[in-house]
Amino acid sequence: MTNVTLDPATRGRLRFSFEFFPPKSPDAEDQLWTTVSELASWNPDFVSVTYGAGGTTQAPTLSTVTRLIEETPLRTASHLTCVGATREEVNAVVERFRVSGCRRFVALRGDPPSGVGSAYRPHPGGYENAADLVAGLKAIDPDFDISVSAYPEKHPESRDQDADIDMLALKAANGADRALTQFFFDNDLFCRYLDRVRARGVSIPVVPGIMLIQNITQLKRFAGLCGASVPAWLEARFEGTENNPALRDATACDLAAQQIAELARRGVQEFHLYTMNKANLVNGTLERLGYRRILPMHLCAA
Ligand code: FAD
Repeated sequence: MTNVTLDPATRGRLRFSFEFFPPKSPDAEDQLWTTVSELASWNPDFVSVTYGAGGTTQAPTLSTVTRLIEETPLRTASHLTCVGATREEVNAVVERFRVSGCRRFVALRGDPPSGVGSAYRPHPGGYENAADLVAGLKAIDPDFDISVSAYPEKHPESRDQDADIDMLALKAANGADRALTQFFFDNDLFCRYLDRVRARGVSIPVVPGIMLIQNITQLKRFAGLCGASVPAWLEARFEGTENNPALRDATACDLAAQQIAELARRGVQEFHLYTMNKANLVNGTLERLGYRRILPMHLCAA
């Protein structure tokens, strides 16, 4: 195990949020709740639950968020997209989440049903884009806590990085509390992006999204769709792990811990972990950084 232990002062300053996706089967549901009960002991800043493309997981997202709010002490955010729906339809969804106790959202435009890269057209009578959705959410309740997306390598549909950062500036101006980035593996690239964001006058926290790599082949396919690059050196680190899940997971944890440690040394204090609903990847990453988990009572007794 690679040791990238941080000095105690730095370690004490870092804050983490965890992203989950809603389960698609009873087995996946069991796995998610085991994961949640293990990860709660890290006391994350907040957790978030994704919203299937075009709202396809609206019901499982709502039930997952509701259960997190009712059964755990975790501050819980729901992802929400506005693609393919009128304002009234989106607002009705927001109301369902609000009634369940949810006051935190990750506000997104989303992708058209035909997939990433196909031309996006706002729904007639719908929110124009994510910035418009942020304004709509703040109009419903100014106290909603709202995260938005950010793209260190620019969104594939953006004309250029300036256009991309203009959109982030609009989201911040409309009331976004923080941005969570798409995953990236080159910390220099993130720091250059952050410099440009700050130079544009955007002052909200920009929290790096850290991918815990479960499957390098799937990651490359997904990265291709969302405009993130996967460096050759990173791919090379997974060579020979195809039939060795333990080595593959250890490699994923080493990489994530190294990335976090290096960003922390550059002054970054908040991190959003794409958990892939896998507790062992989060545990392995945080343990490499020198954190120790306080086991929940039922796990201590086991
Ligand atoms: P926006 O912020 O509105 O736009 C992104 C960029 O694309 C803008 O900067 C802008 O420059 C450019 N752009 C937007 N529209 C146009 C246009 N019409 N023409 C030209 N350029 C344009 N998707 C889901 O379905 N569910 C999720 O739960 C989910 N969670 C996510 C969480 C994070 C942290 C991130 C980074 C992404 C997530 N996504 C999710 C993916 C997201 O929905 C897609 O990337 C989508 O394509 C853009 O949504 P957005 O809110 O980032 O868009």
